[in-house]
Amino acid sequence: MGDREERHIPNPFPKTLAADSIKVVDPSIGQLSADFVKNLQKSADSLLKKLEREIDSNIDWGDTSIYTGCCGYSLLYLHLADILGDDIYLQKAQPLMERCLKKMKGKRSSFLCGDAGPLAVAAVVFSKLNMKKEMANCIQGLKKLERDVLNPSSGLPDEILYGRAGYLYALLFLQREIGKDAVHDQTIHAVVEAILDSGRALARHEKSRSPLMYEWHEKKYIGAAHGIMGILFMLLQVKEYLNDKELQEKIKPTIDYMCSLQFPSGNMPSSLGNKTDRLIHWCHGAPGGVFLFAKAYEVFGNQSYLDQAKKCAECVWERGLLWKGYGLCHGTAGNGYALLYMYQVTKDTEYLYQAAQFARWCQDYGTHRCRTPDRPMSLFEGLAGTIYFLTDLTNPESAKFPAFVI
Ligand SMILES: [Zn+2]
Repeated sequence: MGDREERHIPNPFPKTLAADSIKVVDPSIGQLSADFVKNLQKSADSLLKKLEREIDSNIDWGDTSIYTGCCGYSLLYLHLADILGDDIYLQKAQPLMERCLKKMKGKRSSFLCGDAGPLAVAAVVFSKLNMKKEMANCIQGLKKLERDVLNPSSGLPDEILYGRAGYLYALLFLQREIGKDAVHDQTIHAVVEAILDSGRALARHEKSRSPLMYEWHEKKYIGAAHGIMGILFMLLQVKEYLNDKELQEKIKPTIDYMCSLQFPSGNMPSSLGNKTDRLIHWCHGAPGGVFLFAKAYEVFGNQSYLDQAKKCAECVWERGLLWKGYGLCHGTAGNGYALLYMYQVTKDTEYLYQAAQFARWCQDYGTHRCRTPDRPMSLFEGLAGTIYFLTDLTNPESAKFPAFVI
């Protein structure tokens, strides 16, 4: 219990919308109140100024990743251009992108920590700036990674951060932002099959009771970033590429296996066999369960998945304000996104209210004596991710956890 308390700050906010005197949600319209949205925009704007003041002394040009590197700032600018409808942010994204492209190491294939992310984001920036040739080059570069991704012996993992599910996201991101023709459906289909084949092979090898099994660095992680729940969530988002047998006989029983692992508190273990009910981050723990089980409810319609998602969300609300700070991967903004996803699936304004309270907490950036992350300005550990969340919440129906939700 002591250890648990060290990781999160007790939630000081009234639990229900009815008890909220600040009125972040206007119950008469079932939406965020106009004052709160204005307030969100104001704090996102001042946090962006802070980011831009401090970025030069913080940027590590050797790290090109979306996760902690310079391409993460480009993705933030792309998001701001979209949400604020202002091309000035595209002009800011472009030089950052171009510098990153020159420095890429050609090592990994995922969106968040590999080359696929920078190439996909650059393709979209170039497409929006009508730079067709540059866009085509980036799409071509992304395609070159395909061979490694489809090779079962390449040693590539399947998880989101470094593996095939992360490459899959890059392809879907291109289709969403540029158009269906940007990526062949056969490529997406082949990547989905490669993920399924890999899961089947490990399950067979381990004689697992689950029909699909995945590991990263020889550990069977469960959470969204490195684990099985993140991979399954990605697969459910492309269910049109799966046949009924794959959905019913492979994916559904694997989700059921994940359900069986839930702690009484609603949290999820970080890896198989780990009995410690401790981490509540997007990367490890209950937030990944919110996304997976809520999506499973949408796809299969079973009430039990929704109940499971609600238990995860309850745990995120109780223990999701983190000493680790305001980031997406292991911070309060990422946990806010999980509550927001519950709202999007259930349309229950209580979850919108809860996500808004997490945003309010993030608005008071730097005032809670939280730990400073290693890359304090970055998209997935730091301030850029907080700004991404605050601006996304101004449009709660269409907000999407970056590099994860399609
Ligand atoms: Zn993390």
